[in-house]
Amino acid sequence: MQKAVDAEYAEEERMLVELVRSFVDKELMPIEKVVMAREAAGEKAALTAEEEAPLIEKCKEIGLFALDAPEEFGGANLPAALMMRVHEELKRTIVPFIFPPDSPNLHMLMAVASDEQKTKYMEPYARGELKSCIGISEPGAGGDPAKMRTRAVRDGDEWVLNGRKIWVSNVPSSDFIILMAVTDQELGARGGITAFIIDKGTPGFSIEREIPMLGGHRTYELVLEDVRLTDSQVLGAVGQGFAPMQKRLTVRRLEMGASCVGMAERALEIMCQHVTQRETFGQKLSDRQAIQWWVADAATKIHATRLMVHDAAERQDRGEDVRTVASMVKVYATEMAEETVDHAMQSLGAMGMTREVPLSMMSQKLRLMRIYEGPTEVHRMVIARRTLGAYA
Ligand SMILES: Cc1cc2nc3c(=O)[nH]c(=O)nc-3n(C[C@H](O)[C@H](O)[C@H](O)COP(=O)(O)OP(=O)(O)OC[C@H]3O[C@@H](n4cnc5c(N)ncnc54)[C@H](O)[C@@H]3O)c2cc1C
Repeated sequence: MQKAVDAEYAEEERMLVELVRSFVDKELMPIEKVVMAREAAGEKAALTAEEEAPLIEKCKEIGLFALDAPEEFGGANLPAALMMRVHEELKRTIVPFIFPPDSPNLHMLMAVASDEQKTKYMEPYARGELKSCIGISEPGAGGDPAKMRTRAVRDGDEWVLNGRKIWVSNVPSSDFIILMAVTDQELGARGGITAFIIDKGTPGFSIEREIPMLGGHRTYELVLEDVRLTDSQVLGAVGQGFAPMQKRLTVRRLEMGASCVGMAERALEIMCQHVTQRETFGQKLSDRQAIQWWVADAATKIHATRLMVHDAAERQDRGEDVRTVASMVKVYATEMAEETVDHAMQSLGAMGMTREVPLSMMSQKLRLMRIYEGPTEVHRMVIARRTLGAYA
């Protein structure tokens, strides 16, 4: 019986991977050069609405949307383990496209949204009709979000929010933001932080500036000045925003592990294609031990990372607490992919330094990934604390 279930799962995985791979090859790879040219020109390396709309239509046509949304909301309810294979394939290209909706906020909404919020936000979000972003970081609180200062104060039937958020991605294209604010300063992360849903255009909520980042990425600084919200905009219980926010971060961290596997696979492919052709000093680069070790290390570490990601995702599917392994995945996967991409760039010589191959954009994206969703050093601190804790 177990064998039949395994075979069915393996077949589902194979078909899904093939479908995503074919979408990436046919629809995304052809626009990779356009995105690279935008980044090279110092522009935002995003797709225009005109470029994105037909891609969304196409993925709806072939069933590549709402993949991890619940069935009652029109989703395929795929387990995290299968979603990891999707992210891996998708990130073989630097074209910034995801099958809607973006999973982390979906999972936060699934965990704590009220029935009214599910109808108003989650259903259209799952169908790819609404977009969203998340505001956690502040000028004085990033890696340590418990130190945030944006306040939400009760005034009659309403909440009044004042403060500032920074480094928030995807703000202009979002219809709503999930924003974390302090509702009880003394309790802090243990009962004093609440999640709110703020609609685009809500009075008092504004984008103060766009911040150019590496790799053509953009983040935004946001200001909240007497933003008035009703209880219907509180996501989850008052004071209990921190735990679902952490769960959301965990979903993203596993996804980042899978993305690193995809990027590293592509870099290895580019490296192997090049070193088997290029000759220097009368020999193919692929005949040199220095290069062979890069290839061997990349292949070995990609394999190890894929297994780590898969194991973490399966544990998540079983409902286990995966915070520590998600930290391990994020640290290991980002460093593994950075090293692989760097070796691929080196093996290509000057061509590896250009903006005509996707390696430099990958390397910049990976550099960003060592900071967002928690800096590497903070994850190492957490892993060490939990590991040492077992011996205390
Ligand atoms: C591309 C990008 C996109 C982002 N998108 C979003 C978003 O959509 N929404 C959002 O809310 N935020 C977002 N962020 C913000 C991100 O989550 C924070 O930048 C991150 O958590 C680090 O916070 P910080 O920048 O304040 O650095 P800090 O917390 O000040 O840390 C600075 C450095 O100090 C070191 N450090 C910190 N703590 C320790 C420690 N305990 N031990 C050892 N060293 C330590 C690390 O090297 C760290 O890089 C994004 C950031 C980037 C770069």
